[in-house]
Amino acid sequence: MKEPIKELASVYQGTLDCVHCGLCLTSCPTYLATGRETSSPRGRVYLMRGAAEGRVELTGLLAEEAHLCLGCRACETACPAGVPYGAMLEETRAVLQASGARTSMAARLERGLLRNVVAHKNRLRAVVGLLGFAQRLGLDRLAARLLPASLRDALALMPRVPSGPDRAPLPETTPAQGERRGRVAFFTGCLMSEVFAPVQQATVRVLAANGFEVVVPAGQGCCGALHAHAGDLEHARGLARHNAAVFGRDDFDAILLDSAGCGAAMREAGHWIPGEGDAMASKVRDVCEFLDAVGLRTPTGRYDARVCYDDPCHLVHGQGVEAAPRRLLRQVPGLELVAHANPTRCCGAAGTYNLTQPEMSAIVLADKMDALCAADPEVIATGNPGCMMQLAKGVAGRGARARVVHPVEILDAAYRTPA
Ligand code: SF4
Ligand code: SF4
Repeated sequence: MKEPIKELASVYQGTLDCVHCGLCLTSCPTYLATGRETSSPRGRVYLMRGAAEGRVELTGLLAEEAHLCLGCRACETACPAGVPYGAMLEETRAVLQASGARTSMAARLERGLLRNVVAHKNRLRAVVGLLGFAQRLGLDRLAARLLPASLRDALALMPRVPSGPDRAPLPETTPAQGERRGRVAFFTGCLMSEVFAPVQQATVRVLAANGFEVVVPAGQGCCGALHAHAGDLEHARGLARHNAAVFGRDDFDAILLDSAGCGAAMREAGHWIPGEGDAMASKVRDVCEFLDAVGLRTPTGRYDARVCYDDPCHLVHGQGVEAAPRRLLRQVPGLELVAHANPTRCCGAAGTYNLTQPEMSAIVLADKMDALCAADPEVIATGNPGCMMQLAKGVAGRGARARVVHPVEILDAAYRTPA
């Protein structure tokens, strides 16, 4: 037997909480797809414990299963023993990365892009700008015919990039409308601020319409969620440290986000950088959670549509926010909120999972689309950029009628549409 791995000491502590009850199994998309114990939460916890004790090699099955896992954390919600699966997975992936267990070209490319493009606002802006230019020239359609299937799939995920003016940075301060209720900071993130800039503009308008002054602190950066999911916890910690310093310069009522993946990461900054990240993390709220807590001002207009809400994993399982977005949508005049069969199971986006594990991602998406298509909504609402892209791809693949939007876009439309 080899020596225990000291870097997995906290993972080992987490594995001790697992009582092997199996209550997590039916919530796990990869277990449901494969029927394999090693592709279940319980199986992965067992593998992690074996690695921590020096009984299981870091390469091979553990590395395979740690990356076949979606990181959706549905098992955490299901687990009665409170096994902190998400944090254990992140730390395990970081150890795998550091040990050189993940050396494929795709893994190196992912790490390089995340470190050198996604984490740098100006570089990401330039790359997204180029993509938008290529889309306007129709080069993406040409490339789709020439590229291999894997890259064609990646291209199919990319939404239309908003034009330059629609991607203009948000104002540093937006005044509250009507009676002032407070002052909040808005975290814009990386992909969200480039590809989903109109959603962020809607978020700021909705907050202002609800009486909040919205400040977009200069110098804020990427949250590090994608880096942590890919096993680059060291870089994620650096990004969290930077954001903790930026948001710590002022005393805001709350730090709000409209991306569930970023929200979960910012809320966990206290875990990534103990002490330094606690103050920031304690103020982080998803925009829907916040509006629900302070009380939504009744929209003046209407939104006449049949809407399905689909839970982003990092909102429902990562942050425990499930009822708030539904409560907000039910207050919109004209909106019919319809349930579908499985709103809290992952859609298969999972950060960069739909690019790195396309086969399993497609299986997971197919289940989700079966449920959504059976409900036949006109609009699908979900609060995370990766889920919006994945569901839009699923809708296009099924030839369904639904549009995919963020819940704040619905609220914004209801405030802006004449009564
Ligand atoms: S995070 Fe999701 S995919 Fe991974 S073990 Fe848990 S339920 Fe399964
Ligand atoms: S539900 Fe929790 S305690 Fe039970 S097997 Fe799954 S991880 Fe272990």
